[in-house]
Amino acid sequence: MQRQDHKFDCLICGSPLVYKDGEEQMKCVICGNTFSSNCACEQGHYICDKCHSQPGMVVITAEVLRTQSKDPFAIAMKIMDDPHIHMHGPEHHYLVPAVLLAAYYNAGGRIGERTLADVVEVARLRASQVPGGICGFWGCCGAAVGAGIFTSLISGATPLAEESWGECNAVTAKCLELIAKGGGPRCCKRDCFLALAVMRKYLAEHYDVQLEKPERIVCHYVQYNRDCQEKKCPFYQV
Ligand SMILES: [Zn+2]
Ligand SMILES: [Zn+2]
Repeated sequence: MQRQDHKFDCLICGSPLVYKDGEEQMKCVICGNTFSSNCACEQGHYICDKCHSQPGMVVITAEVLRTQSKDPFAIAMKIMDDPHIHMHGPEHHYLVPAVLLAAYYNAGGRIGERTLADVVEVARLRASQVPGGICGFWGCCGAAVGAGIFTSLISGATPLAEESWGECNAVTAKCLELIAKGGGPRCCKRDCFLALAVMRKYLAEHYDVQLEKPERIVCHYVQYNRDCQEKKCPFYQV
């Protein structure tokens, strides 16, 4: 795969992103709206979460409604190969529940009377509220939250539910525990793969739904990731 322009770093000029110590009011160079943020590129370009992830969100929805695959890793990597999906970014918070819903549904998982498109749309709306950088700033990686969103949707959890309330919080915790063990810096690819691995095992044990997986999960996004842990990452291959 060729390195695409601006697949990482600033989408406008390609300069590295800089995280400042404090938040300040910044104007998005794409939509012109002002938001509180602490991240812009070295040249001062700030792009809001919505403008950063919007084209990628459309790619995710289209692929998960089209695929017949029961392999969430294969679906995820097909989506990640698209130039609209950045190396890191909040679109991954939607990618996890969307890919899981598709693989689960294709493997015979039940979603009640709703259509897959309806459930995926709810996942998109919820995941869109999970901000970029939540892993480091809130201590709660968005890939794990995505797994929680998925579990909430298939279990019918609400804030007032009993069993399913506990279940979806426990699932997020399981994913976070594994993700935390890997240590930083964050990698949206690694953390998605880890959350998918937890969920594949979970669905087999608790829902009797068997998702497929590749013989070995090999990350081919290393070339885009200046922060790659390389040999420390379980998906790294020289
Ligand atoms: Zn820039
Ligand atoms: Zn914007």
